Amino acid sequence: MSSVPEVLDVVVVGAGAAGVGVGVALKHAGIENFTVLERHTVGASFDRWPAETCFITPSFPTNSIGMLDLNSIAIGVSPAFSLGVEHPTGEEYAAHLRGVAQVFELPICQHTEVRRATKVGDDFRIDTANDTLRAKHVIWAAGEFQYPRLNGFAGSECCRHTATIASYEDLDGDDFIIIGGYESGVDAAYHLAYLGKRVRLFDKGSPWKDESSDPSVALSTYSRERMLAEWFEKHVELFPQTPIASAVRADAKYEVTAHDGRRFQTSVPPLLAGGFEGSYKLVADLFERRDDGFPLLNEHDESTIVPGLFLCGPAVRHDNQVFCFIYKYRQRFAVVAKAVASSLGLPARELEMYRKWGMYLDDLSCCGEECEVC
Ligand SMILES: Cc1cc2nc3c(=O)[nH]c(=O)nc-3n(C[C@H](O)[C@H](O)[C@H](O)COP(=O)(O)OP(=O)(O)OC[C@H]3O[C@@H](n4cnc5c(N)ncnc54)[C@H](O)[C@@H]3O)c2cc1C
Repeated sequence: MSSVPEVLDVVVVGAGAAGVGVGVALKHAGIENFTVLERHTVGASFDRWPAETCFITPSFPTNSIGMLDLNSIAIGVSPAFSLGVEHPTGEEYAAHLRGVAQVFELPICQHTEVRRATKVGDDFRIDTANDTLRAKHVIWAAGEFQYPRLNGFAGSECCRHTATIASYEDLDGDDFIIIGGYESGVDAAYHLAYLGKRVRLFDKGSPWKDESSDPSVALSTYSRERMLAEWFEKHVELFPQTPIASAVRADAKYEVTAHDGRRFQTSVPPLLAGGFEGSYKLVADLFERRDDGFPLLNEHDESTIVPGLFLCGPAVRHDNQVFCFIYKYRQRFAVVAKAVASSLGLPARELEMYRKWGMYLDDLSCCGEECEVC
């Protein structure tokens, strides 16, 4: 007869930037009886970025003056300082996350894939590939990168998602079609153009021209600056307002057809840079959905229909606020940790220091202001 498993206070799913960051906040909240379950190793998504891809948001050692490094996930930590670079590669940032997990002695179980989380009575049942755990709270932090969007249009299965590319240098061919012109698409175009390849970059809108000052809506300054590189202007042709309707492979050629009927051929699989479905589809039935498909959350980033289930990371949305960058969603770690601590009857006073560091955003009324002066 199998023994009844111990009930953990919290299970965090995923040890990426969000899982490690919220794990640190749980410790600061005085919570000890928790575990972080990671299907691969800490920072696995970052380790899987194309080798040439680096951070858009700059890291700078600003901590000494009370402003946290933009890419830091914990108070007192600075990737700029520890890595000595301003725009870390994915591999560098993964190494940084492993260092943070070690310093804060986070209880992480690597190589443990969560298949399912369900609420049974007051507790959650978490099924991993080899075991079943029970917990009072679950924090879903399994990210987006390992769940790319592959089915945006008919025939998209003959294309290749940029999230599956180990290095742009290793790609055969000289003539690339990229579908999706936001950060990942521009990044791919930049590296391929640098290698002297022809690139045609398609987008259903024109993110390169968006007037918003919010990089969750418009292309970041870093990417816009990259588009001015001599090789980008020479090799990349932009197709704004050109949604793709279908792709097909015939013999050794690939053909993509735009909604307006125009056809474009290439000899290499077109690259998909149309974003991610996200891991929350694994727990989709435990959240209500917003109109845009993202999980509906209460003011503690908790499911509105399953109390005790929280979401951390880039899929967090509140009204029109998109928390898709680290410097944004890290401000919600303390909010989640505080809610869990309150439910466990812990005062979590140490979390108050998160406010001083701009790491405790529990009043969203200040957000959404556009930069109008410059
Ligand atoms: C090309 C690119 C460039 C980017 N540049 C920036 C940038 O400059 N600045 C910035 O702030 N953000 C940037 N982002 C966004 C950034 O990558 C995300 O904010 C970040 O990865 C999200 O962290 P996360 O912890 O939510 O997800 P992840 O880093 O994906 O971590 C999730 C973890 O969960 C694990 N996991 C997944 N499923 C399971 C499961 N079922 N069971 C157990 N474990 C599981 C994964 O192995 C992974 O380690 C970029 C994203 C991309 C794709």
